[in-house]
Amino acid sequence: MGIRAVRIWEARLRYREPFRTALGTSHIARNLIVELETDFGPIGLGSCAPLPRVTGESFEMALEALKAIGRELVGACPLRAELIRELACKIAPNCPAARAAVDIALFDILGQVAKRPLYRLLGGYRDAIQTDITIGLKGPAEMAQDALRAVEAGFRALKLKVGTSLEEDVERVRAVRDAVGPDVEIRVDANQAWSVQEAIRAAKALGKLDVAFIEQPTPAGGLEGLARVRHESPVPIMADEAVKGPADALRAVELEAVDLINIKLMKCGGIWEAMKIAAIAEAAGVGLMVGCGGEGRVSITAGAHLAGALRAITYADLDSDLLLAEDVAEGGSVVEGDLRLLPDEPGLGIKGLREGAMRLLASFGTR
Ligand SMILES: [Mg+2]
Repeated sequence: MGIRAVRIWEARLRYREPFRTALGTSHIARNLIVELETDFGPIGLGSCAPLPRVTGESFEMALEALKAIGRELVGACPLRAELIRELACKIAPNCPAARAAVDIALFDILGQVAKRPLYRLLGGYRDAIQTDITIGLKGPAEMAQDALRAVEAGFRALKLKVGTSLEEDVERVRAVRDAVGPDVEIRVDANQAWSVQEAIRAAKALGKLDVAFIEQPTPAGGLEGLARVRHESPVPIMADEAVKGPADALRAVELEAVDLINIKLMKCGGIWEAMKIAAIAEAAGVGLMVGCGGEGRVSITAGAHLAGALRAITYADLDSDLLLAEDVAEGGSVVEGDLRLLPDEPGLGIKGLREGAMRLLASFGTR
């Protein structure tokens, strides 16, 4: 009983509108979809959207990594996941997104073997989780308008992208707070834009605007700086770019640099590594969010299963499929109001792929 075929597809998904953060502007999200077809029934689906600005992994690197790993998977037992993870780390140590795609597909198979939805196998703590919606970086008045539209659409938590200058950024948050009133939760993501001193000043100003937390205010390389910000900040501090995997999480905890960690499957290498981060954070009393970046429905659904599984995850920023104008997956986790619902079907619960909307880039083994 093993994997008899591996297929790797590209899906180019357009954003509804250009999406700007302090790290750059995106027009298209290039996703890689991997299918692991077994000889005993299940076909495992995984996907990735590499984050080159965060991990240094380009789309091309992820594709080459998936090809190299995929070639080796034909004939392998998909339930020997730890062996496969070891192999993937050896072949592609610098490609966490590619490894995440494989890891997600293995978990999809596991769920299908057990005939249960994945989140139930991993802990089954909740059947739905509130997600925020991200408001891209624009001028204060435009962001206030986008925020109002999001609230009208049913979202009760907004994640504001900031990171040009301190004064403008505070003005952005103030404009949104004035527009949406006191009952909407506002989260702020600076994507490393501020210096330590700026971040401390920003945190003091944003503390007066009832901000839930500030995500990655300072450059990713400086956990010590983040710790200094946290010491002086009246607002909880979340690490995103600074904490990629479990080792970073351990260091962030040791330095008392964070109140919260943003877990992303594309940074850490998949659900298994994400659960290690969660264990470290929970033991240290650090809170958790599951985030995303440029991902379509397949890997967003994987993130939703993780968020549904664990008590320690209290925030979800699982909205990138909502920012995209198109998708190639049917089924999976959908949003009602602002709740990410977990599918009832076995495994990930993706019902199918629109193969016509994708491009087959490589296949190994036989159908
Ligand atoms: Mg972030």
